[in-house]
Amino acid sequence: MPRLVIVDVDKCVGCMSCMFACSRRFGEGGLAKSAIHVSSIGGVERGFKVVVCRACENPPCAAVCPTNALVRREGGGVVLNPSKCVGCGNCARACPIGAVQWDYESMKPIICVHCGYCVNYCPYGVLSLSR
Ligand code: SF4
Ligand code: SF4
Repeated sequence: MPRLVIVDVDKCVGCMSCMFACSRRFGEGGLAKSAIHVSSIGGVERGFKVVVCRACENPPCAAVCPTNALVRREGGGVVLNPSKCVGCGNCARACPIGAVQWDYESMKPIICVHCGYCVNYCPYGVLSLSR
């Protein structure tokens, strides 16, 4: 199964096109539903940090889910079953790189599904889908 990879973070200009694209998967404008997160590491000159699921083979987020709402995905990472999720937030706290974003509307995690939709919206080739 393919997975999203960060090819060259130094090329990121912080335009957040990837975040807008990811949110749009749900027909939403804005940034609130994005599974990928871009932030400045201290001014434009120092660059940006791109945080997204690294598709762990043994995902710590799934290990701490009390309801098995996160199941391991073939090729790494996890798949969320929202109907099982009780919104405890354990998964978000367990991710060592902070890649589990939070949906404050549903009070459930936003999990990257490695669809690659964001890749085509990055004008600088920061992202790629590895097969
Ligand atoms: S927030 Fe949902 S998916 Fe995350 S650990 Fe809790 S029950 Fe599982
Ligand atoms: S691969 Fe898909 S789910 Fe993951 S950050 Fe990109 S658009 Fe969002």
